[in-house]
Amino acid sequence: MEQTALTYLCPDCMAYLRYDGKEQKWVCDYCGGKFTREELEQRGAETKQDDYEVKPRAEAAENTAEISYHYEENITETDEDLSHLRAYHCPSCGGEIVTDDVTAATFCVFCGNPTILPTQLEGEYRPSAILPFETDKEDARKAFLQLCKGKRLLPKGYTSEQRLEKITGVYVPFWLFDCKADFDYHATGENVITWSDTRFIYTKTDLYHIHRAGTMEFENIPLDASEKMQDDLMDALEPFHLEKKKQFDMSYLSGFLAEKYTYEPKDLYDRMTKRITPGVEHKAAEGGKSYQRVYGVKCHTDFSSKQQSYMLLPVWMLMSKYDGKEYLFAMNGQTGKIVGELPVSNSRSAKWFVIIFCISFVIVMIVLALLAMGGVL
Ligand SMILES: [Zn+2]
Ligand SMILES: [Zn+2]
Repeated sequence: MEQTALTYLCPDCMAYLRYDGKEQKWVCDYCGGKFTREELEQRGAETKQDDYEVKPRAEAAENTAEISYHYEENITETDEDLSHLRAYHCPSCGGEIVTDDVTAATFCVFCGNPTILPTQLEGEYRPSAILPFETDKEDARKAFLQLCKGKRLLPKGYTSEQRLEKITGVYVPFWLFDCKADFDYHATGENVITWSDTRFIYTKTDLYHIHRAGTMEFENIPLDASEKMQDDLMDALEPFHLEKKKQFDMSYLSGFLAEKYTYEPKDLYDRMTKRITPGVEHKAAEGGKSYQRVYGVKCHTDFSSKQQSYMLLPVWMLMSKYDGKEYLFAMNGQTGKIVGELPVSNSRSAKWFVIIFCISFVIVMIVLALLAMGGVL
């Protein structure tokens, strides 16, 4: 199967270009050139590409090291099924780049140049839109350092320059659903009034059957379509301001990793309805007459999805492994919102435990001594 890899080139010096979210321009790190899309079109910016055959599996497997951004440790797959690997030649240095079958943009492991694999995003895999990065790697580094700041139990050297270098911008594939929810809500409402006269206390209980039916419309509910991404973390990165989306163009991928979807919309349908159900039920329950107590709630909702669109959304990521567990730091590449977990160093927590124990022990001893002296006096 014929595969193509391409790199966007600077019109001034022919070094590679990368899209800079902060500048909202394509920049050349070599000569410092900065170009808008119009300028690139006017200058007739070129791409360098390379077409060749995909390597047989065994050969392709030899160079898998250092490509995965999911782990700090290099992964060498040996005994596994390697049919998911794809091999490309770097358009700049000719070195062999091996990726998995969902990667659409990466970097050459030999020369570091951004390399786009356009055949991965063809046909049904071509996104309708892309939300370009609006932040740069420096913003992501600062956000990560801020998150780590003052965390005494962080493993030593966790914020090393080496680790910060591994923060990578990724275009994550998302399906955006438009959905209609028809709800039918039944419940019992109860109002109790009490009064008394000289002889009796009276209680009047009114019971009401509450029935509400209605329709709610949802637009652009984003769900990540990548098997590799943790769903809850991706959900937590929202909101994305989708009104700033751009028509998809490969050149935005330059300087980032990108993937095509692994989940079809039908695979995500249940996840989508689960996400909006609480909102529908909340809406169905509110408004109307108020009751002191509402019970016996039954809410039935029929969902119908009118359409979905496929889009690439920007996320900065840093995956690290500590003590056999994976920790992901992620930042919304548009808004800068961050989510993530940090590891706790066992030896540091032990040290702090000892320090706190010793301080408490000394305080207790002083208090006891004072009490004893007080007793004597
Ligand atoms: Zn240049
Ligand atoms: Zn290269």
